[in-house]
Amino acid sequence: MLGTGAGIPTRDRNHPAMWLHYGEENMLWDCGEGTQRQMMLAGVNLMKIDNIFITHWHADHWAGLISLFQTMNFEGRKRPLYIHAPEAERFVKDILDLGYWGLGFEIISMPVQFEENKETVVYESNDFLVTSIPVKHSVPAVAYAFREKDRWNVDIKKAERLYGLKEGRLVGKLKREGSITLKNKVITLEDVGVLRQGINVIYSGDTMSCKNLATLSKNADLLITDATFIENMEDRMHMTIKDAIELAENANAKMAVLTHFSRRHPHNSEIKEEAAKYARNIDVMVAKDLMRIEFRKGSLVMRDAD
Ligand SMILES: [Zn+2]
Repeated sequence: MLGTGAGIPTRDRNHPAMWLHYGEENMLWDCGEGTQRQMMLAGVNLMKIDNIFITHWHADHWAGLISLFQTMNFEGRKRPLYIHAPEAERFVKDILDLGYWGLGFEIISMPVQFEENKETVVYESNDFLVTSIPVKHSVPAVAYAFREKDRWNVDIKKAERLYGLKEGRLVGKLKREGSITLKNKVITLEDVGVLRQGINVIYSGDTMSCKNLATLSKNADLLITDATFIENMEDRMHMTIKDAIELAENANAKMAVLTHFSRRHPHNSEIKEEAAKYARNIDVMVAKDLMRIEFRKGSLVMRDAD
């Protein structure tokens, strides 16, 4: 969690941004002002980012892009950089029209739909999908989901016992293709495999409590959510801590990480107290800048930064 503040940063909370690392992929989800230095403090390499997912175009979520593009250029980036966002074409063009860039790499706009109430795939790798759904804010805004693909592991003891299949090239082929033939016998993944369900991580961006976010968050392993205020601020288009926890519980999420806190609530202790009033069936964590969350083989581990 690179930044856990809201519209105005504080001494302890930077503007919103989140780094997501999975296998070879390094992604940034939102990029408020100051995100570059937060990445340095977190010890992550900003040159490795290939995809940036912006939830909406309020400056606290994107103003860090300007300086990030410039640093990447100074550092000699050649690979293209993909910016996924509602209205991406318009805003990326506007940013690129602002300065004397002379960019040595391509910045590619990837528009994310924000009008139809359905989940849409915006990015796919071999191992996971990133999807989006429109949410309810004062400007076009989306929430994103990181959905790890389910994966078969081969129970090698069982495979050897039943079929004489040993660890090696054939096991790789079985995982890839779903079946192999060994000594005239067809072996399928269902015969010797264990299906491991992928992890689902939802990031709400800025939103009021809404049906689409609830749909996206159904049975999520982790919901990272707007929880801007303690008291209800009807005109602000954000969630309260109570809203966020209720949504997470109703969606049957396993864990919620509250973030995007108003400077009205500078101390995490008061947010924790408020959260404790409502959390019943889920683990709730209060995010702080540079907090790390690890997922490993179907489970989540929280690890605070020093
Ligand atoms: Zn915001």
